Formats: sequence, C-alpha cells, structure tokens
Amino acid sequence: MVMLATPLRKLEHVISSEQFDRACLDDLFARADALAGHRDTRLAGRIMATLFYEPSTRTRLSFESAMLRLGGAVVGTEAAREFSSAIKGETLEDTIRMVSAYADVIVLRHDQAGAAARAAAVASVPVVNAGDGPGEHPTQALLDLYTIGSERGTAEGVHIAFCGDLRFGRTVHSLAQLLTLYPGVRMSFVAPEVVQIGADVLARMTAAGIPFRLTDRLDEVIDSVDVVYQTRVQKERFTDLADFEVARRAIRIDAEVMRALPEQAIVMHPLPRVDEIATEVDADPRAAYFRQARNGVVIRMALLDLLLG
Ligand code: ASP
Repeated sequence: MVMLATPLRKLEHVISSEQFDRACLDDLFARADALAGHRDTRLAGRIMATLFYEPSTRTRLSFESAMLRLGGAVVGTEAAREFSSAIKGETLEDTIRMVSAYADVIVLRHDQAGAAARAAAVASVPVVNAGDGPGEHPTQALLDLYTIGSERGTAEGVHIAFCGDLRFGRTVHSLAQLLTLYPGVRMSFVAPEVVQIGADVLARMTAAGIPFRLTDRLDEVIDSVDVVYQTRVQKERFTDLADFEVARRAIRIDAEVMRALPEQAIVMHPLPRVDEIATEVDADPRAAYFRQARNGVVIRMALLDLLLG
C-alpha cells in the first residue's frame, strides 16, 4: 500500500483513515466549520468525476453538492459496472487512466477492498476512496468524527459502542482508526460472532493502546456509552444467507434501548438504515444520524478545497 505512506498534507489521494494525523483533522474540521452554509467559486474550472461501482445516495450526492457549492463541475456515472466500459471488460486501472484525463479529482466507490489503492497507483489526479467493498470509507469516518465533535464537544474520552455488522462494515473500520488519535477513547464492539470485528482492526487498537471489549449484548455496556454507532448488516457481502439472518436479528435500537441509554449519549448510523433502528427512535433528540448525514456536505467541501484549492 504505497499510498498510505503519502502524508495527507500533500493531499495526493485519500485512501485510508491511516493517512490522517491530529493536525490534519483539526485543520480539516476548522475548514468545515468555516464552510457551513457557504457557497463560492473557488473551484471554478475544476472537474470532479464520481465513479460509483456500488450504490450510493449520500456519499455521491454530498460530494457532488460539495463540488457545486465551491463552483466546480461534476461528471460521473452512478452504476459504473453497467454504464461504463467495465461491462466490456475494461480493467479498473485502464478506466482510471482515462478518467484522469477528463477530471481533476476522482471519487471512487468500488465493491473490492483495495480498489482505491489500485486506482491511486495509476491515476494522475487525486483519488478519493468513497468506499472499497468491506475495506474502508475514510470520508464517512471524517464526517462521523466531525459529528461526534459537534454533538459532544470533543471525541476525547468517549466510550463508543460499535454495533451491527463490524466485519463487513467499512465505516466502522475507518472510524475506529481515526478515534485512535483521541486520548481516553474506549470501544465496545457489539456484534454476534459471524459479524464481529476483524483481528486486523483489533491489532491496530491494541497497538494504539485503546481499551476495548467484545460482546454480543448491548445491555452489557449501555450504561456507560457516550456514542452508539449502529450499522446496517451488509447483506450484499454475505455468501451464506444463514449467517446474514443471524446477524440481522442480533442488535436493534428501539424505544426500550433508548430508555437504558444515558441522557447525554447519542445514536449514530452511517445510513442507509433498514430495520436496525426502529423509526420510533427518530424523534428522540439523541438520535443524531440525520444530523450526521448532513455534515457530509461541509466535510467534503473542506476535503475538496484541500485537494484542489
Ligand atoms: N453507506 C455506508 C457505506 O457505504 C453504510 C452502508 O452502506 O451500510 O458503507
């Protein structure tokens, strides 16, 4: 992964949460604060290509909205597997070489882990990983972390319970990594065995000195949590549907769970939600997931400004 060695300050590509340090995050979040509600033309004449081989609502549209709000232009394809030359057998590498000639930045979502790094290796413009299969989703993690900061003042000292599909849920992999930069963070990984967090993530948490606990019961940790980070069970990544059924039924946030949740805690979710958070929770002020999704625009404006400005 040559790309991970690239310091983000040079802002060549955004492939993994591992590229970020605290100074870079503080800078990015200050820029995002300043860009709230803002529109200007600082990226006039610049073109962003969105190349999405997997479905997306929030990530693609918030990137496009962010680029348009800064005066830039957007080209792209939202079903790249069917509507690009991939269907004719073109490799990702060849597609990226070509799109590099048409745009100043490429936002890529792909179904294979490592695809963004492969793209970055041949691109002549910055590549942003907008989700690579079960791998990472670093820009989601940036907006998640920004949300924790805006909802709670700081991410320092939080006890976060990651729930749901921790095996395939790429947003969890990326956010857990960013949180290692904040002193006092504790993590609970709440999931049944079939979708429990991978040893690779746990090894990184151990190396960073993060205290963590694995359980399949939210009620064991709920008393002390500050953030419940619920996730969708990633149906599209299961080869065994029996495993999917086990995972799907495991952890659901409903009014009863909310009664046990501390008053100052928040519930987050990268969305889309299926039924892992009951809609009765939406009206609770601690339900932060729609506010979280809205933060995607300013974070992506700040990132595009850093990459292209
Ligand atoms: N939108 C998030 C992602 O692309 C979460 C999800 O799909 O469940 O990873």
